[in-house]
Amino acid sequence: MTGVGLSAAREGDRNTGEQAEESPMTATTVLRHDAKPVTPESIRSAVAAQRGLAERLFATLAAGSPGNPGIMRDTYGAGENFGHEILREEAGVAGLAITTDAAANTFATWRGTQADAPAILMGSHLDSVPHGGNFDGAAGVVAGLVTIAALRELGLQPLRDVTVMGVRAEESVWFQVSYIGSRAALGTLPEGALEATRIDTGRSLAAHMRDCGGDPEALRQGVRALDPKRIRAFLEVHIEQAPSLFEAGFPIAICTGIPGNFRYPNARVIGRHDHVGTPRRFRRDAAMAGMALAHALDEIWAAHEAVGTQVAVTFGRFHTNAEMHGMTTVPGDFRFSLDVRAYDEAVLAGIEAQMHRAILRIESERNVTFELGPRASAAVGLVDGVIQAALTKAAGHLGIRSMPLGSPASHDSAAFAAAGVPVAMLFVRNEHGSHNPKEAMEIDDFMAAATVLAVWVAENAG
Ligand SMILES: [Zn+2]
Repeated sequence: MTGVGLSAAREGDRNTGEQAEESPMTATTVLRHDAKPVTPESIRSAVAAQRGLAERLFATLAAGSPGNPGIMRDTYGAGENFGHEILREEAGVAGLAITTDAAANTFATWRGTQADAPAILMGSHLDSVPHGGNFDGAAGVVAGLVTIAALRELGLQPLRDVTVMGVRAEESVWFQVSYIGSRAALGTLPEGALEATRIDTGRSLAAHMRDCGGDPEALRQGVRALDPKRIRAFLEVHIEQAPSLFEAGFPIAICTGIPGNFRYPNARVIGRHDHVGTPRRFRRDAAMAGMALAHALDEIWAAHEAVGTQVAVTFGRFHTNAEMHGMTTVPGDFRFSLDVRAYDEAVLAGIEAQMHRAILRIESERNVTFELGPRASAAVGLVDGVIQAALTKAAGHLGIRSMPLGSPASHDSAAFAAAGVPVAMLFVRNEHGSHNPKEAMEIDDFMAAATVLAVWVAENAG
């Protein structure tokens, strides 16, 4: 790779992009104000010059959304609103075009010269879990702003719009619905989602959205902000949510896929409260039944792991009813949430069928009833192979060490992929895992990811 082909990408490249892959990456200067060629090396220097911008944005975000401990950017609440304010402020100073949609997502756009060319979107979510980390989500937005600042500094002018999207409501902990902002923008929000209530306020998603300047009525009428056909690609830089990169000693990873999931946020086992001395044969112990299901699913998981199939099973909530439980009472009421994820729809369907068989067995063995409650799911997110290869190549060319990695977590990218948009993700090393206050990211690692992102954008914005 010797230079950056600013006019290499064509409309016909969507989804396949073979031409972009094969075309010689010669330096193109037609879009520059001066005659210096733009190379991946010059892009690296331009991105490095934005280090202060990245550090300042992360520091501002952290200071304005304390979670004591960690970070609190509550979905459609004050914390998330603060993140969007910072994005708008920064975009305003940079002279980017700022728009919001009916779901109150924020878009900051570096306008291209050809209004009809499908846009490049970069971004991620600006909410967090309670007591989360500062980089989860925000890194994708900051990487987008850094990329635009660096490429403008080089005097480039894109043909297509290059947009940073601050996505609302990715963290499903608040409304128990995943990818709310991205799916609302793409018109794929599931039926009934607007009526979901936030776990702490008890108020509906529609009400929260309205408070944040959104227009849930427009969403009900099918208004969508984004047409998948008008998006060249969605690229998301994200902190890795497990310490795999730290373990392997790589600063960044190029994502190979995003897991789909099925979820039961509010499942219950109903048995009977009894005296602690009740013989086993009379018991209808709901907690033991919950344990039996967890054990069954753990064994299913282990069997998949043994043959190298990636799966993850999580009982995030797992408890007896606090109003009734006590050391000398057999629990007759047990509550849990379940999240099962995998990279293959057939694997997910197989596990769910096995789970239902296990439930029937446990119900009859333990004389209890399972009420799984509402079911939610998200499709497996396929990464665009051509973009993935281009990112890997760009990293290799610059001597940035990267490894391929299946995402351990769900991401907005999966919603874009499900809508038919070519997507790619870059993960940044994180020693302490995510969704906790100890989440950690070295700014050098972040800059490496932003550099690879910027090279791809420069090559494809023409
Ligand atoms: Zn995230």
